[in-house]
Amino acid sequence: MTSVIEKQKEIFVTGLRNAHALETEAMSIMRAQVSRLEHYPELEARLKQHMTETEQQKDRLETILDGLGESRSALKDMAASIMGSTAAMSHAVAGDEILKNSFADFAFENFEIASYRSLITMAKESGHLDAVPLLEKTLAEEEAMAKWLEQNLPAITSAYLARETRGDTAKR
Ligand code: MG
Ligand code: FE
Repeated sequence: MTSVIEKQKEIFVTGLRNAHALETEAMSIMRAQVSRLEHYPELEARLKQHMTETEQQKDRLETILDGLGESRSALKDMAASIMGSTAAMSHAVAGDEILKNSFADFAFENFEIASYRSLITMAKESGHLDAVPLLEKTLAEEEAMAKWLEQNLPAITSAYLARETRGDTAKR
């Protein structure tokens, strides 16, 4: 029989592995976007900053998993990486690529926010309190990125409109 404590740990570990795969997907999306961006330097800079943060977020998850005597799932990560590049490339064919990417990035950050809030609840309820500050640090970075995207969408849209109406390359 599995005890409640063992079951709670199992659920928490699954959540941590899912988050690790999610960060791998995030990296592959942002890497693809940054490699294509030409005319949106502020967005490019913010994405690069968030890529650095995302590497640290993965490290934090690995630290928590190590502490629990668990490893991350290489298989899940690989699938997530493929999903990420597919998602980014699916927008590359669009004339309004920059807008579609901005909407998708905003949605992605909010998905991450929800998943870290859920992980923090799991960590608290399962008594893994060491993990809480690490997860909260990541949550704060995701919230900051979501806020930046929200605040900058009007400027990105205006720049897109101006370039497109002049006949300049606007999509990336
Ligand atoms: Mg993240
Ligand atoms: Fe993020």
